[in-house]
Amino acid sequence: MNRMILLNPGPVNVTDRVRKALLHPDLCHREPECAELVQSIRQKLLEAFGLEGVFLTALITGSGTAALEMAVSSCVAEGQAMLVVRNGVYGERIATMAESHSIPTVTVDCDWGVVPSLDAIERALKEHPEIGLVALVHHETTTGLLNPVHEVGELAHRYGKKLLIDAISSLAGDTLDFERSHVDYCVGTANKCLQGFPGVSFVLVRKEEIDSLATHPARSVYFDLNKNLKAQEAGETLFTPAVQVHYAFDAALDELIEETVTGRIKRYAGASTLLRQGFNEMGLEYLVDPAHRSNSLTAIKLPEGITYEFLHDELKKQGYVIYAGQGGLKKSIFRIANMGDIQTGEFQRLLEVLKTCLAKSPSLRD
Ligand SMILES: *Cc1c(COP(=O)(O)O)cnc(C)c1O
Repeated sequence: MNRMILLNPGPVNVTDRVRKALLHPDLCHREPECAELVQSIRQKLLEAFGLEGVFLTALITGSGTAALEMAVSSCVAEGQAMLVVRNGVYGERIATMAESHSIPTVTVDCDWGVVPSLDAIERALKEHPEIGLVALVHHETTTGLLNPVHEVGELAHRYGKKLLIDAISSLAGDTLDFERSHVDYCVGTANKCLQGFPGVSFVLVRKEEIDSLATHPARSVYFDLNKNLKAQEAGETLFTPAVQVHYAFDAALDELIEETVTGRIKRYAGASTLLRQGFNEMGLEYLVDPAHRSNSLTAIKLPEGITYEFLHDELKKQGYVIYAGQGGLKKSIFRIANMGDIQTGEFQRLLEVLKTCLAKSPSLRD
């Protein structure tokens, strides 16, 4: 095995089939072949997640943040506010985006790695009738914590609010029940658990939202969800899409449909279980309680005397790229994601390599 195994939460290792799809012949984005490609991706996304007839897909060229900004800037009506739950970098980013588009926000904050209080969310909903939309990160990739999307969705529904989910790192990695959780807008990207390349992301929009979406102010040109969606419904794209990345995404969706979303979730759950058994045997400690961990990322406390830099560099020499903590967790944790096309044998070897690294840490000898 001479490839670099990516244990960061995207971009992920892709299959050769997806990589080869990049090399499709050059194509003008105003030709019917490109329209077909865009429709194919939009359709396959709905098919994979069982959303045909209920949702529509709006694609956008850009990383996951592009689709998130498209949703955040477009989904709140004039005069309304957005409730944002913040318990990690990505919840904070949603609030920052809303503010940068002059959308009023109400925030419910809790410590990173901790499940937000439903009472606090309900209190905010009661106290702020101006809230029109609730925004929640499903899998807070900062910590590997799954937020209670179903409970928050029930609350939003009970108070007559729309629900926007950042599922960028959870779609096809952890279960998301769009109906039970009352999801109206769901943001995803090609390059995490969907196993495509970075460069295209999307918003799944509940069909019933289309009319009201059209009445919201256009706060951006490129990130206008209503206009992008309308253009794509008419078989066009507003701007130049990353054509080659779209070809690869189409191939990645074929693979997802073959594996099925349930099958992929099972595979990721199996991989994280295997890894965590190994971490347990090494005596490593976790940031998040077992009940709230995602299937695709594990945040591990750096053992006493071991720096992230040491661990990262030693593992990289062996072909594995791990990921640092963010913000206040930068010095205290490291993260291991198991997204993408990685084989069981590669995870097993990682455990052996990690064990060796931990044993030879120079600072442990001080
Ligand atoms: C990765 C991630 C993003 C940002 O995606 P990019 O592709 O890096 O722009 C946003 N939200 C969550 C939850 C993520 O995991």
